[in-house]
Amino acid sequence: MRRGQQMNQTHIPMSTVPTHSTPFAVNERGYYGQFGGSFIPEMLYPNVEELRQNYLEILYSPDFQEQYRQLLRDYVGRPTPLYLASRLSEALGAHIYLKREDLCHTGAHKVNNTVGQILLAQRLNKKKIIAETGAGQHGVATATVCALMGLECIVYMGAHDMERQKPNVERMKILGAEVRPATSGSQTLKDATNEAMRHWINNPQDTHYIIGSVVGPHPYPDMVARLQAIISEEIRLQLLEKTGSELPTHVVACVGGGSNAAGAFYHYLDEPSVKLVAVEAAGKGVSSGQSAATTALGKPGVLHGSQTLLMQTDDGQVVEPYSISAGLDYPGIGPLHAHLYASKRAQFIPVTDEAAMKAGIHLAKTEGIIPAIESAHALAALSELKLQPQDVVVVNLSGRGDKDLETYIRWGGY
Ligand SMILES: *Cc1c(COP(=O)(O)O)cnc(C)c1O
Repeated sequence: MRRGQQMNQTHIPMSTVPTHSTPFAVNERGYYGQFGGSFIPEMLYPNVEELRQNYLEILYSPDFQEQYRQLLRDYVGRPTPLYLASRLSEALGAHIYLKREDLCHTGAHKVNNTVGQILLAQRLNKKKIIAETGAGQHGVATATVCALMGLECIVYMGAHDMERQKPNVERMKILGAEVRPATSGSQTLKDATNEAMRHWINNPQDTHYIIGSVVGPHPYPDMVARLQAIISEEIRLQLLEKTGSELPTHVVACVGGGSNAAGAFYHYLDEPSVKLVAVEAAGKGVSSGQSAATTALGKPGVLHGSQTLLMQTDDGQVVEPYSISAGLDYPGIGPLHAHLYASKRAQFIPVTDEAAMKAGIHLAKTEGIIPAIESAHALAALSELKLQPQDVVVVNLSGRGDKDLETYIRWGGY
């Protein structure tokens, strides 16, 4: 009961107060170190500027906080458990806790962000919502909250991705969203993002664009990080209750764009004793030409409205990424993560398809939890950490494996 009461209060933790500035907080121009900013066509400026001027005031208004936290509790199912995985701990020789984002409504952490942004859209008097989606997970999380609030929802999705991810296309339709195919280029996520941007330019007054990760022009990376920060806010309280200290030795999370990692790291950014471990998809191997290992291969450049690290050719063309996991199949990372990499605040570990699949199947057999293949990448990195018996490691289990069943079946080996 006592923990429940702490979780439900509308009190704002010190480190989320907008004026609190640290080496890892965004500055007023939207930069984390040399990364971030807002590189957008002039036509988008009014929309992004409206958001920039209002997001902090809205996010930290008592009215927003009350509704956001109530929905997280009663609709999403928060706080998600922090689970001491005993058999996995024994196998790895350290204390391994799993933050169970896989138990969130819709099966992953993404809904923390869409719940927050739909409440923000309402407060900006927006009547319509647009989103982009790759594998469809963010599209489903967006369609879900639009149904919840009775708002019109259009999701742009690459035509090729619609073919590959049929169940999620149908889920979005059942939820009442319109799914529009992006038919240009490679007909994948980046093309869907371009179409969504174009739509927003043409409908600036009544439409809010819900971006699904800590990417895009300022203020999106900061806004999404603050909405996902609920993850580490809960970890601190839960760890204190279970171990007597709010501080683990390590926090480990996978990085696609970086939203689940940003949420899991957020309240530990200024705790130097806590090692932050970001895990990226190495696909068939970092130097195989088929990977999404952004920090290992990337160079600074502008992607989707912000200065960050991205995989690109010598003349600056974005390289098509590859990973077995659709959620990590992104050619960049959010600017916060680029800064955590450049400043060495976080360690980045590449994990191959093969290591991730093995780790996913191992978790299933040792703990009875089938993880999303994205989350399995985070688990696979644990064996690279040279853990000591006294170490307390929190792994953010970003999602559940239901959506990946076909990939597990095709992979076999269980
Ligand atoms: C989308 C997704 C990711 C990757 O996105 P981030 O923004 O990096 O968190 C990771 N895990 C799951 C389960 C996802 O659905």
